[in-house]
Amino acid sequence: MSDPEIQNDTIVAISTPPGRGGIGIVRLSGPEARAIAEPLLRLRNPLAPAQARYAEVIDTIGETLDEAVVTYFAAPASYTTEDVVEIASHGSPVLLDYLVRQCIARGARLAEPGEFTQRAFLAGRLDLTQAEAVSDLIEASTLHQARIAAQQLGGSLSRQIAPIKDQLITLIAALEAGIDFAEDDIDTLPAQEITNQISKIQAPLTALERTFSYGRIVRDGFTLAIVGRPNAGKSSLFNRLIERDRAIVTATPGTTRDLVTERVSLNGIPVELIDTAGLRQSTDEAETIGIAKSREIMAEADVVLLVIDATAPPHPEDEATIASLTTRPLLIACNKSDLTTTSSSPKTSRPTIETSALTGSGILELRAAILSQISSTTPTAETALLTNLRQQQAVSAALTSFAQARQAAAAEIPHEMILLDLYESLRALDSLTGATTSDDILHLIFSKFCIGK
Ligand code: GDP
Repeated sequence: MSDPEIQNDTIVAISTPPGRGGIGIVRLSGPEARAIAEPLLRLRNPLAPAQARYAEVIDTIGETLDEAVVTYFAAPASYTTEDVVEIASHGSPVLLDYLVRQCIARGARLAEPGEFTQRAFLAGRLDLTQAEAVSDLIEASTLHQARIAAQQLGGSLSRQIAPIKDQLITLIAALEAGIDFAEDDIDTLPAQEITNQISKIQAPLTALERTFSYGRIVRDGFTLAIVGRPNAGKSSLFNRLIERDRAIVTATPGTTRDLVTERVSLNGIPVELIDTAGLRQSTDEAETIGIAKSREIMAEADVVLLVIDATAPPHPEDEATIASLTTRPLLIACNKSDLTTTSSSPKTSRPTIETSALTGSGILELRAAILSQISSTTPTAETALLTNLRQQQAVSAALTSFAQARQAAAAEIPHEMILLDLYESLRALDSLTGATTSDDILHLIFSKFCIGK
């Protein structure tokens, strides 16, 4: 994809995952898609746009290799907007490879990762946020992630940006007109009016930028480190949260020496749970290394869950842990609540939940508290989310330029200067949807796709 602008050749790839399966799909896109595919097939009826056809896959001497269902999409009504042919045969790697090699021998080129989607983008069928959503949808590990990606693929982010951009263009046009026709006595916009208009554009954009704290977590998940003194019940709580017996639970303090990690879904958000070695002074070398590692993990995790034994009096070690995490998202689980009615917990304003890893009481509350730690805002289903850093950076750059434009307007600086900032905002918004995005960045985005998409 050295030159994303020139793409009029025909590409081919296996679009189903590697390995054997019931069905495997070879996809062709480009002007020769049909001409390349047809000699490989014995069709009972000729290909027709958007209709599935039964066909036999044949070898070079006309012998049958397989049966397939072939679908032809005529340009521009296809995923890429080009002619597309999809051959769905049985999922045998040998056969799929054969088909791809035959297509290449007949003039097709092996598609690069993401090239089908890139063609859809370059043809204007998808904007960049939608193309990114295709990749996110494929990568989704929970249904919630898939839903958010599907909304973005449906254009939720683009729809949110469009009216903001329209308002900006109207303002730019009004300022330009004031400059162009200054001698003709056209009224120029008063400074107050300009700042008002800029504020109106800034508000929804600022709200959109705030969605990134949640959007990032939905897409990438977060890490939760479970820390605490030996025997407080960390491994037991870990197992409760993952609903399986993965971490070793024993009655001897100091057994969880290695880190045990597990990815789980909390209300559709992927969480990497890390069960750490108990925090305490130790003379055992292996355990000391484990404890050092725990402190490291604690410093890096998005949220820390400190597990405290509710049956024991408050321990200085726990208090020290709380004191060391004043600026970090921290939750405290007062565990073994089944053993005591007067659970002892350290004096702290941090959220504290009484749990019993043994009976399961308090686990629902713990899950909810973990989620509220990672994001104070859980947007409604209709809200578009910024889900990756590229999108956030574009919105943030637009906001910076808006702030500068507003300042310039308030200071009654010549409109030419305000316009410079407004054009900068426009460029930033355009880079969000991909209307103006450098080839290097495009290459980076599409190269992360799998082949065949
Ligand atoms: P860790 O060292 O902090 O990981 O603690 P473990 O999860 O290995 O638990 C230590 C001991 O406490 C084990 O015998 C557990 O069965 C017990 N335990 C853990 N949580 C609870 C709880 O909520 N109630 C009761 N009664 N026992 C628990």
